[in-house]
Amino acid sequence: MLTQSKRINIAGVEVSPDHYIGGKRVSSASTFQVISPIDESVMGEVAAGGQAEIDLAVQAAKEAFPAWAALGPSGRAPYLKKLADVIEAHLEELAIVETTNNGSLLEASRLRVMKRGAMNIRFFAEWAETLKGESWEANGVQYSVHYDPSGVSGLITPWNAPFMLSTWKVGPALAAGNTVVIKPPEWAPFTCSLLADFAEEAGLPAGVLNVVQGIGEDAGAALTAHPDVTRISFTGSEETGKIIGKAAADRIVPVSLELGGKSPLIVFADCDFAAALRTALGQYDNAGQVCLAGTRILVEESIAKDFIEGMKTGAKELVLGDPRKPETHVGPLITREHLERVQGFVERARAAGAEVAYGGGVSSALGGLYFEPTLFINVPEDAEILQREVFGPVLTLQTFKTEEEAIALANHTDYGLAATIFTGDEERANRVGAAVTAGTVWVNTFFARDLSAPFGGAKNSGIGREGGNWSFEFFCDVKTLAKRSGSFQ
Ligand code: ADP
Repeated sequence: MLTQSKRINIAGVEVSPDHYIGGKRVSSASTFQVISPIDESVMGEVAAGGQAEIDLAVQAAKEAFPAWAALGPSGRAPYLKKLADVIEAHLEELAIVETTNNGSLLEASRLRVMKRGAMNIRFFAEWAETLKGESWEANGVQYSVHYDPSGVSGLITPWNAPFMLSTWKVGPALAAGNTVVIKPPEWAPFTCSLLADFAEEAGLPAGVLNVVQGIGEDAGAALTAHPDVTRISFTGSEETGKIIGKAAADRIVPVSLELGGKSPLIVFADCDFAAALRTALGQYDNAGQVCLAGTRILVEESIAKDFIEGMKTGAKELVLGDPRKPETHVGPLITREHLERVQGFVERARAAGAEVAYGGGVSSALGGLYFEPTLFINVPEDAEILQREVFGPVLTLQTFKTEEEAIALANHTDYGLAATIFTGDEERANRVGAAVTAGTVWVNTFFARDLSAPFGGAKNSGIGREGGNWSFEFFCDVKTLAKRSGSFQ
């Protein structure tokens, strides 16, 4: 391992291509190339970590753990709040680096997503300060519940929202008193490298936050198999989730898996039609590369014709193009490999007899990785496109006649991440909300995610919940202290 490489200039921001281990930048003999989806240009070569780098990083995190844990929540909070402040001072740089690296919309990043990153850190630091386990007496024994730090957390994140998702894991893990090793996504590692710079600027002790870049099967697998990692939190695909779940099972390590989705967006005839339509068209955000996206639109038959017309008209107004431009609604797909995967789903859906209402291919004007917003209607019941996660700007629309039919269609999936219901009838919202299997159900709204709420997936969408207390129940060793009452002088 070498010591340090030259920083890469990304849209005017200097970003280190190296790992961050024990408070130092560390490079590797081998590297991997990172491409910008905007124009498929090479952004740079990034250090490719493997077993050796993971060993170093876990060792650094293990050494930093006792002192960090001993600080207690109120001793750690000033560091974390400072980290949130530093992130807030760099929102513009973060946004442009993320957009150049993964093609997400710059405006959304600047105005919302990156701020949410700072909020994730601050929120969990504050929550930890007020976190109190219950206490009670039973049968002459005084019980109390304590949230102990658990050691080194391994955090593995995906490319669609890499900065936001790293902070969503880093915030509670560090606030809980753990130290962390983050393995960012190989397709979009750069904002996580900036997070390491910010941790240093905020004065986090060396070894508390470490970043090892690398390919999932190398660095990621080494992290999940490491004997000194006491928690694994993963967001990504179902296939990788299964592999990581097995690695965790081998060592009996608690694992949190937030995986894919094929979420229903149920539109009843009595709803606010314009709001439902706007939300349906909003599913093309981030070019559909969103695990929570409501990709299966289910519309009550009596309004289906108008809804499809509304989708057609609305889709024509969506601007596909450079995600750096404020007028753009839909940016590129992340890589050529991913584009081909999305094309494969579209071709198979067509071959199965599904009808393309609009879209269906790469934009003839833009080429590159710019895939048109696409809608399939009249989809055969057993078509793959209704079951598998595409992770692209591809929606399906099915119709239903009754509430029971809507519920049956909504639940006809192996996933259970989220569901959205549009209706003007609150009792119906409660009934359908209760009957749908999903980690989160939104009614007449979409994407509302308060950080105190539990978040995670049912069925194949994952294991575990994070958010509020749920994050601490995962990252901590929850302990019961039972003292015999009256046994002290
Ligand atoms: P996607 O590419 O769809 O986001 P992946 O599940 O492939 O989903 O990737 C999510 C994260 O998991 C990435 O950081 C990737 O490097 C990592 N990863 C991939 N394979 C493994 C593996 N076998 N072990 C650990 N991490 C992995």
